[in-house]
Amino acid sequence: MPTQDSLDFQKVFSQLSTQIKQLENYGEVASYIPELSKVNPKKFGIHLITSDNQHFDYGDSQEKFSIQSIAKVLSLSMAFRLEGPSLWERVGVEPSGNAFNSLSQLELEHGIPRNPFINAGALLICDVLVSHLNKPKEEFIHFVRKLVGNDTINYCERIALSEKEHGFRNAAMVNFMKSYGNIKNEVHEVLDFYFHLCSIEMSCAQLAQAMSYLSSNGINPLNNEEVVTPSRAKRINAIMQLCGFYDEAGEFSFKVGLPGKSGVGGGIVAIHPEKYTIALWSPRLNAKGNSYRGMKILEFFTTQTKSSIF
Ligand code: GLU
Repeated sequence: MPTQDSLDFQKVFSQLSTQIKQLENYGEVASYIPELSKVNPKKFGIHLITSDNQHFDYGDSQEKFSIQSIAKVLSLSMAFRLEGPSLWERVGVEPSGNAFNSLSQLELEHGIPRNPFINAGALLICDVLVSHLNKPKEEFIHFVRKLVGNDTINYCERIALSEKEHGFRNAAMVNFMKSYGNIKNEVHEVLDFYFHLCSIEMSCAQLAQAMSYLSSNGINPLNNEEVVTPSRAKRINAIMQLCGFYDEAGEFSFKVGLPGKSGVGGGIVAIHPEKYTIALWSPRLNAKGNSYRGMKILEFFTTQTKSSIF
């Protein structure tokens, strides 16, 4: 027996092709990582998984893309699990109001990044994982594969290398934090792990599955294992709400009204706790580095289904 929610979701999914035709595909694909600029800018995919495991799917939702910064939610979850609350002595939980790769705030705040989702914060989280894990890349991808229930999920070496060759700002940030004593491992090791993390490829369907624990109180719905405690799932969602869209987090809250995280590959994941996880991909980015159509379609979706958290 379909619920009212699932009827609403079905209705909105059936309206998507008309919506997308009416919407201009503004913006540019990310080019500061040269490999990312090779993507077809017309791609559009979306996948929703409800907490009772119904799937809604549209467009290029089974095609893999570079998830980039969305992976930072997964690395934060793993680091929080391993390190516990002492994590917050080394990274904050406040919105930055600055670009994702800004250096200036880091100096003012003595090498403690504002939050785990700006690049400096994500690099710090990588340092925590490098300290805890024997084989960080292997163990992390294993963690992600378990979340998706799919052993083919992998890093893209081509993209990781492309980013390494152009990642001067990220290198500057790690060095800068190291000068304050807030990076414990070798700079090159932290950077290598970070570039790989960002290079993970997944489809919208896989991404929605991977993040479903955040709409299920921290439980992986595929195997009922606890990924993070319910309290930590709440905290990670809160950080997404405040910091998931760089200096456009307020706009995303205002228009869409869900915790979420974007990546410069054009992906967005958004969570409605205890209701659904939705993943979307459209590579052209707006001026703040977030998917132009992704933001618009999610606004349409939560408005039509009246399913924002506010
Ligand atoms: N790998 C990208 C960078 O470090 C991630 C940026 C993003 O997706 O926000 O610049």
